[in-house]
Amino acid sequence: MPELPEVETVRRGLAPVMEGARIAKVEVRHRGLRWPIAKDFEKRLEGMLVDGLGRRAKYLLADLSSGDVLLMHLGMSGSFRVGKDAKPGVYYHERSKSTSHDHVVFHMANGATVTFNDPRRFGSMKLVPRAKLAQEPLLRALGPEPLGNEFDAAMLAKACVGKKTSLKAALSDQRVVAGLGNIYVCEALFRARLSPKRRASTIADRHGKPNERAEKLVDAIRAVLKDAIEAGGSSLRDHRRADGSLGDFQHNFQVYDREGEPCPNCKGKIKRIVQAGRSTFYCPSCQK
Ligand SMILES: [Zn+2]
Repeated sequence: MPELPEVETVRRGLAPVMEGARIAKVEVRHRGLRWPIAKDFEKRLEGMLVDGLGRRAKYLLADLSSGDVLLMHLGMSGSFRVGKDAKPGVYYHERSKSTSHDHVVFHMANGATVTFNDPRRFGSMKLVPRAKLAQEPLLRALGPEPLGNEFDAAMLAKACVGKKTSLKAALSDQRVVAGLGNIYVCEALFRARLSPKRRASTIADRHGKPNERAEKLVDAIRAVLKDAIEAGGSSLRDHRRADGSLGDFQHNFQVYDREGEPCPNCKGKIKRIVQAGRSTFYCPSCQK
């Protein structure tokens, strides 16, 4: 499942063709995504200018001249593809084996096509008036952006104070910090040298003040996300950049998916355990 770096990579790939461009036509070939695409979807998009393409956690947010915001989520297997050979005024259809999973195509007035492909159809697209964005249920419960200015050790400690769950579970909780999933939680905990089994509350004192562990963890989270974005995200199954190329960060995993391999720090064996039904990879000697 794409995590923050993969979504940010997609955003950076789409921004050059979408930002400042007008949406000429929208083709919805399959309305049955995670939630059905609304009947007035095309009408509310066609003719609108994309003022900006942003991201909140794992959502892409296209700001439209109409005052609507187009919310897009990749789900489990969603990807976007930019048509390269399109000429202005010509609607371009790329021929490839996977076109049966091309569910939504945006034809931009600048000639580019932006195609959303999603074999498993857990992705979603929804229009929300900008004025109602703060009340949008999909976004309202999200915790801080890990790369944003407000996210720091004090904030993370406050979210973890009194928590009896593991650090792995706390960091995977989108209300504690937004955008992290299995891969980057494992990698951040390794970089911070903290055990995924450690109680979340141990990064704060009893009053919720952060200790050194919280500081190390925040630094590790930011560093691993930045490195992953730099590498174009991780391509395990379906992640592609918008130009179709693969991300590279999977080659830089230090613990994730490396069960039995040597720890890059101590050369001990990396262990896999199952927490809340998901695999956790860590080094039992380095991470305490
Ligand atoms: Zn180690």
